[in-house]
Amino acid sequence: MFRQVKRKTAGRRNFEDVSSSSSGDKKGGADLISQLNNIYQSRLTFYDIPPLEEITLEEFENWSIDRLKLLIEIESYGARSKSIKDIEVALRPLLLKYLPMNGNSSDGKINPTLYQERKKDHYSHFILRLVFCRSEELRKKFIKNEGILFRIRYNLLTPKEQEDFLMSNSHRLHWKFISQEEKLANFDQLYNASNLIIKNHLLQEGIGSEITNEQVKQHIKFKENFIKLPFEKVTNLINSRSIFLKGGYAYIPTSLQLNLIVTEFQDNLNTILLRTFQTLPRLEEDDRILPLLNNLGLNFSNIQYDTNNFGSDDTNDINAQSIQTPEILQHYPLCARILQKQLSFNSHLKYGGRQQLGLFLKGIGLNVDEALKFWSQQFLKKINQEKFNKEYKYNIRHNYGLEGARINYKPWDCATILAKAKPSKDEYHGCPYRDLSVNNLISNLNELGIEDQHQINEIMDDVDKRDYSIACTRVFELTHQKELKASSGAVAESMHINHPNLYFDRSRQLERSMEKKKEISV
Ligand code: SF4
Repeated sequence: MFRQVKRKTAGRRNFEDVSSSSSGDKKGGADLISQLNNIYQSRLTFYDIPPLEEITLEEFENWSIDRLKLLIEIESYGARSKSIKDIEVALRPLLLKYLPMNGNSSDGKINPTLYQERKKDHYSHFILRLVFCRSEELRKKFIKNEGILFRIRYNLLTPKEQEDFLMSNSHRLHWKFISQEEKLANFDQLYNASNLIIKNHLLQEGIGSEITNEQVKQHIKFKENFIKLPFEKVTNLINSRSIFLKGGYAYIPTSLQLNLIVTEFQDNLNTILLRTFQTLPRLEEDDRILPLLNNLGLNFSNIQYDTNNFGSDDTNDINAQSIQTPEILQHYPLCARILQKQLSFNSHLKYGGRQQLGLFLKGIGLNVDEALKFWSQQFLKKINQEKFNKEYKYNIRHNYGLEGARINYKPWDCATILAKAKPSKDEYHGCPYRDLSVNNLISNLNELGIEDQHQINEIMDDVDKRDYSIACTRVFELTHQKELKASSGAVAESMHINHPNLYFDRSRQLERSMEKKKEISV
C-alpha cells in the first residue's frame, strides 16, 4: 500500500508480501483488483478488502488525519450526549470537507473523482486500523465511532443504493425479506409488536408531526419491508418486546434493520482489529510508518489546530489595545480569560502564564511590536522600562522567532497545556477545567453566564471523567447557543475544542457569520 523506497524497505517481509501478492501471483492480484473495483461501486463498504495500490507518505498522513478529524468530532458529540440525528446534522458539512463520498454518476459509472474519494475513504480506514488496534481502549473508541460514521453514511444513501448495498452483502447478513403474503397473514401481530417503533421512525424521518394509528397500518401494509431472522441472532431486541416472534424467527422492521447492519459492521471490525494487532510487529519494522502511526494515536483527542493562518486579514483588528476590550475578550476560552484577568490584576504573570498567554495572543494575530507594547503596558505598573527590557523583552521576541534559535513558536494546544506541570501558588497557567477548585470553576462558569444547575452538573461530570476538552467544548456550545442556531451549519468547521486558539477562531467566526446575516437582511 505504501510507495516503496528501496533503501528503506528492501528485504523487509511486510513489503515483500505486498509485492508478491500484487505481482508474483498475477491471477490472485488481478482478482483482488477486480474486487476492489467492485467495492468502489458502492459508497458504503464493510472494508473487507485491504488496499493494494501504492500511495505516498503524504497521502498516508493527510488521509488518515482527515478521517481522524471526523472520528474526533463524533467522539466529542457522543461524549456530550448528542443524539445520532444531531451528530448526523452536525457531521454532514464535515463529511463533505474531509471525506466526501458522492453518489455514482447517472450511468452508474465511477469517474476518476469518485474513485479518488472512495480510495481515500478506503485507505484512511485501513490506516486508522493500524493506529487503533493497539489497546482495548483504542479499539473500543474506534469501533464505536466508525460504527456511527457507518450509520450516518448508510442514512445518506438513496433507497436504491441501500437496497444494492444489502444485496451485495447478502452473504454476510443472511437476511430474508418476507413476502407480501406472509406480511398480510401476520399483519395484526406485526402491528401490535412494532407499531411504536415504526411510528417513532416515521416521526424522526419528518414524515409528519403527528402520525395516526391508521397511517402506521397503511405504512406497514404497503411500504414496510420486514426481514425475518433466527431469533438467537437478535436476543437484545427480544428483551425489549418490540418485535414479533414466530416459529423460531424474529420479524424485524426497517427502522431496526440498520441497528443489525451496524452491529455486524462493528463485530466484524472488532475481530479484524484483534487480528491486525497480532500482525502489527511486522509493520513496525518500517521506520517511516511507525512515527506517523504513533503520532496519529497520540492525536486522537488532539488533532493539531492549523496554526498556519496567523496574521490573515481576519486579525487586522488585533492590537495591544483591542485585546483588552470586551469585544475581543469575549472570544477567549476560560484558560486565556483567567490569565488575562490575573495579568491585569497583578500586573505580572509568572513564566508559564506568560508563555501560555503570550503564544495564544500571537496565535490570535498580535504581532511582535503590539505584543511588546501590551506586555510593557501591563508590567510597567509595577516595574520600570529598564527592568522590563532586561527581564522580559528578550523572551517575548524569542517567542516570535526573533532571538536565540529563531524558532517560530506555535501557540500551545490543550494537550500541551495539560502536559505541563500544574500551576502552583500564584501561577495561573494550565487548564482551568483541570486546575481550578470546584467552587472556583463554578464561579467562573457563572461569570460566563452558565448558571443552570443541570448544565453545570454536565460540565462537572466531564471534569470528573478528565474530559477537559469536552467540558470546554460544552461551555463553548452553551455560551454560543444563539450564534450556533443562527449559523445552522454555515460554519462548516469542526466544533470539538482542542486548542485555545480554535476556541477563539470559532467564536469570532460565528460572530462574523451573524453579522453577515444581519447585513444581508437589512
Ligand atoms: Fe483552554 Fe483547552 Fe482548557 Fe479549554 S480545554 S480551557 S482551550 S486548555
